[in-house]
Amino acid sequence: MNIILMGLPGAGKGTQAERIVATFDIPHISTGDMFRAAVKEETELGLEAKSYMDKGLLVPDEIVIGIVRDRLSKDDCAKGFLLDGFPRTVPQAEALSATLKELGRELEHVINIDVRREVLVERLTGRWICKTCGASYHTVFNPPKVEGICDKDGSELYQRDDDKAEVVTQRLDVNIAQTQLLVDYYDGQGLLRTINGEQDIEVVFEQIASLLRG
Ligand code: ADP
Ligand code: ADP
Repeated sequence: MNIILMGLPGAGKGTQAERIVATFDIPHISTGDMFRAAVKEETELGLEAKSYMDKGLLVPDEIVIGIVRDRLSKDDCAKGFLLDGFPRTVPQAEALSATLKELGRELEHVINIDVRREVLVERLTGRWICKTCGASYHTVFNPPKVEGICDKDGSELYQRDDDKAEVVTQRLDVNIAQTQLLVDYYDGQGLLRTINGEQDIEVVFEQIASLLRG
């Protein structure tokens, strides 16, 4: 199972990824999570990525491509992988294709979660994330059982710096154009499947799972 999960910021990639990896037992590779971990650890990669993330800009392709290539060569990816938030540009998609070829692998599914921009703004500005496991919640659409606390591990929830209203607008603008190019790229290869992401979380998951079981 070699899968890409695509969608604009707030489309529900992280929420669905959590369910997909639990059901299909494959590693979850989120470039956003990898960058946030590097920022927290204050590594060189983290310091560089932070300057782009804080402004809602994309991290340059060569940096992102390098970390994904390293990650995909790890043993646990032999049974498959779920890429969440990568690729985000056509050059990233082309680099992924070259890496998979070197590894003797092929992409099987490209799933695009489609949500309108006005809904995305509401989702991002109400998003809260677990400090420990990264699970995401929403104050209105998907609240935790106890306010501010993760249902899964009892850790504190926080709001991402780039989920502030000013940065959200910039992130959506930057990502909309790139995502359309990627949609065309994978559609041209006959790999793209689009799911309506404005349905209940469990309904979206059932539709994705049924495509993957295909
Ligand atoms: P992404 O990883 O694509 O940026 P998330 O999975 O973090 O998106 O979801 C963004 C926000 O929207 C979170 O607050 C999440 O709880 C909420 N959310 C996710 N899926 C849905 C859905 N189907 N309906 C309503 N809210 C959702
Ligand atoms: P979301 O989908 O909610 O925007 P992510 O957690 O996937 O958020 O990404 C957070 C930030 O990390 C992005 O705004 C961007 O700066 C950086 N990033 C993540 N993945 C990529 C990528 N594939 N290419 C470039 N930048 C990326």
